[in-house]
Amino acid sequence: MGGKLYGPTTLQQRKNHTINTTIHTTPPTTNSLITTIIPPELYIKICEHLTPDDLFSLSQVSKYFRNLLCSTSTATQAIWRNSRLRYLIYPRCPTPPDGMDERQYVLITNLAIRCQFCFHPRKQSQIYWAFRVRCCLDCFHHRTVSEYRLINHYKIPKDSLCGLTYTAPCNYKIYWKDDIREAQENYMTALESNNLAEYIKKQTIKLNKQLEQIELQEWEFKNEMARWNYQNTLLFDEIKLRSSCIAEETAMEMGLDIEKLQDWGIYWYPIGNVCRTLTEDDWIDWRREVETECSRIKRKSQKWFHRFSMKSTIY
Ligand SMILES: [Zn+2]
Repeated sequence: MGGKLYGPTTLQQRKNHTINTTIHTTPPTTNSLITTIIPPELYIKICEHLTPDDLFSLSQVSKYFRNLLCSTSTATQAIWRNSRLRYLIYPRCPTPPDGMDERQYVLITNLAIRCQFCFHPRKQSQIYWAFRVRCCLDCFHHRTVSEYRLINHYKIPKDSLCGLTYTAPCNYKIYWKDDIREAQENYMTALESNNLAEYIKKQTIKLNKQLEQIELQEWEFKNEMARWNYQNTLLFDEIKLRSSCIAEETAMEMGLDIEKLQDWGIYWYPIGNVCRTLTEDDWIDWRREVETECSRIKRKSQKWFHRFSMKSTIY
């Protein structure tokens, strides 16, 4: 089920919305007047009200904002975390997986964000937890390589891959190309220092731990998605039910045929893709809308009835 990712901010979220103003970022380097006269602390306060998409856009405006919003400082992490919990329906996990910062977590889990490499608007992207990226299939193929090819075509020793995370669709191990060079360098260093056996042992232990974490992350995320879908379904059902009851009640009070409400388009609340909890004000608006439409329909039917009656009199 598709759904708008942004929901309303609850009062509790506003109350909990605090920012640690300790920030470690480079000072403004541009000659722009605004970035030299406004201190980082003020930017942090401004950023409190931005959605994750806005934060991504802002981080691409200049080097100054990039340094500010791509920092791993406590304040920057708080900005991303608060924005995620405030504006995104998911992910709702209190903290990202080990070793992943808030920005990266939002980047790869936010469905509104496209492939992080090509940003193609029409290409579907998915998360590859083993590499901690969100990308489309084309970029995935471009940036990965199979174990078979590494060993048989590039003649890379199999043991040099022993510490690298991989994804294994259909039991074929696929590696991220950017990881290969460093792994090879570490392997050669261990080989030259006659420390290969120990190196392989440590790398294998590290890899097994990472693979366990990856499996857990995939499971947690799927679980969260399933819960989100289920909650969405409940929400839509509740909205449909309440809006139809209001419409029937209003139409009956005005003496209209409730069987025609669907034909008149005033039976269900037009929620579309907006996924949020409706407020009592929304329901008052809906009742008014139904009343207005019912009044219009009633006037129209009375007008036709009147004309018909007049003709009957003439003839
Ligand atoms: Zn792509």
